[in-house]
Amino acid sequence: MYNVSEKTQKGMSSKRDTISAAYTATFIANNDKFPSLSHREHCAVSSNQIEKIGLTLGQQIRILRTTTDGTKLALYTIKDVHDDGEYSEDTVLVGYKDQNDLWERLRLPMGEHCFEGKIDVQATAEGFDDDKARENSEFIEHLTDDGQNTGLIVIAPHGGNIERHTDDQAQYVYDELLLLSPYRVSTWICKGFNKEEDGGAFNRWHITSIDISENSFPKLKTVYRRGFEYAVAFHGFSDEEHPMSICIGGITNDKKLKEDIKMEIESKNAGIKVYMDKECPRNINGDNVKNIVNRLSTNALQIEQTKEVRDKSKSRLIVADAVVKVIGPKITV
Ligand SMILES: [Zn+2]
Repeated sequence: MYNVSEKTQKGMSSKRDTISAAYTATFIANNDKFPSLSHREHCAVSSNQIEKIGLTLGQQIRILRTTTDGTKLALYTIKDVHDDGEYSEDTVLVGYKDQNDLWERLRLPMGEHCFEGKIDVQATAEGFDDDKARENSEFIEHLTDDGQNTGLIVIAPHGGNIERHTDDQAQYVYDELLLLSPYRVSTWICKGFNKEEDGGAFNRWHITSIDISENSFPKLKTVYRRGFEYAVAFHGFSDEEHPMSICIGGITNDKKLKEDIKMEIESKNAGIKVYMDKECPRNINGDNVKNIVNRLSTNALQIEQTKEVRDKSKSRLIVADAVVKVIGPKITV
């Protein structure tokens, strides 16, 4: 396990060196002080800490836990402020659903609820390409945008090893549409890695789509208020009962969009079961207005896909290609 300060000296860009400030804090795992803390990606800080770290409610922070064999860390969203005096101003309350969450995210041993550590205000590493990010088990964002496009934005907030191959699908749509609709397609892709643990990228870097703050992703922020005609998000989920399935959700004015993509995918007879909106297994239909894809466009699609669909290049390309075929000709701006 690497040590964060060593890594900063060795590999980070000068920009990260200068703005990356880590603040010492006491962390207490708590799942009943606020409703938000029953979520394993949420935390609550004091007003004093908010002022000190210069962030606002809703932004992402890294929580760093110092241990004898290195620093454990994970990305959290500041969902609440605790100011009633029950906890000191230097305390951060760390949410969890069951205690295994604390082990998976911060390697906090079972039965322990309190630890010393640091808050790092920077969500993504800057100045890393994919190889460097992989090598350093880091989290990066990429934006491809000409500064003006208002046609389509394709996003993969959980690329890299968080939800594998979703970034490849976003890139595929971009590459294909660049030929058909030059200057009408942008991408925002995040990639997270963690080579130390199986499934570790998801545990360390996954921030649920409704919580993604444009203020914690500088590149996203540059397009956040652009008002795209279309937005498509590629995601991954797992469901043992529905292995080869996808869910098309999101909030769209263009009601035919989802049906057309479903028909396009089914016409390939590749055994991909396509669910839409409320028929989707579990609560993954992207119908929350706060979902980042719905904040980027009034014609937003959230495409959730099982591991089985994403792992096979044939099936993941069928899904991406359906987006190209259906949305490509519709971009009018
Ligand atoms: Zn996702």
